[in-house]
Amino acid sequence: MRIFDPHIHMTSRTTDDYERMAAAGVRAVVEPAFWLGQPRTSPASFSDYFDSLVGWEPFRAGQFGVRHYATIALNPKEANDPRCRPVLDLLPNYLEKDGVVAVGEIGYDSMTPQEDEAFAAQLALAVAHDLPALVHTPHRDKARGVERSLAVVRESGIEPGRVVLDHLNEVTVKLVRDTGCWLAFSIYPDTKMSPPRMVEILREHGTERMLVNSAADWGRSDPLLTRATAEAMLAAGFTADDVDQVLWRNPVEFYGQSKRLDLTDVEVTDLDPPPATFAGNSILRGGS
Ligand SMILES: [Zn+2]
Repeated sequence: MRIFDPHIHMTSRTTDDYERMAAAGVRAVVEPAFWLGQPRTSPASFSDYFDSLVGWEPFRAGQFGVRHYATIALNPKEANDPRCRPVLDLLPNYLEKDGVVAVGEIGYDSMTPQEDEAFAAQLALAVAHDLPALVHTPHRDKARGVERSLAVVRESGIEPGRVVLDHLNEVTVKLVRDTGCWLAFSIYPDTKMSPPRMVEILREHGTERMLVNSAADWGRSDPLLTRATAEAMLAAGFTADDVDQVLWRNPVEFYGQSKRLDLTDVEVTDLDPPPATFAGNSILRGGS
């Protein structure tokens, strides 16, 4: 089984996770730029973070046979902080980099006017840089957040097939299903979406334009819930081809629109590679 996790924050995870993910079949991941859990106070800390998403983290993933790509954006929450707004000016540089396959996560946190503005500006950047966009839907007031996100997407003129709305559930899936946008679901250990609930959604709405991710980060989360969802699909009577479509071909097709995904030789994994370094640092210990 080959698995592409289209939304996971590996910066917050350990090498144990990479090992377990590789063993479970995860061969490629997309890591969206996001909020780090406490406020950043200057654009410079975003630069360093973005650099790590296109430098150190792909290197680290590569040590476990996992292909790593990133999406870059000013996240919705920090779009409200005037100290972070100049990050918007840093984005055009990053959106030209090889490892960047979309603009994201953008969208709404609390649905403020500042978020409106950053959301629209970043959709315009996606159009200008010919990239897809990853839209985070808010955890509170979800249905209204999704409706408003879809309105902003429509106004932006971006092609709906180049947009994915993430963190959907049984209610919001209905709002997005017929819009032409892609639909993504984050499977969590004990809140929001679970593997059995995901299977029901796939039964009702089919497997087309559907993405499943673990959205694992620094909170309670589990990078193996993509695999658990695949197993639940098989147990429910979905075919291996259905599983391959949802867990591999769909994310490849969506992020492939960036023309930057290179998945050649991705099946070849070498979990015991010779010591390699990134800017002089190995994963054994920074600096050694
Ligand atoms: Zn996320």
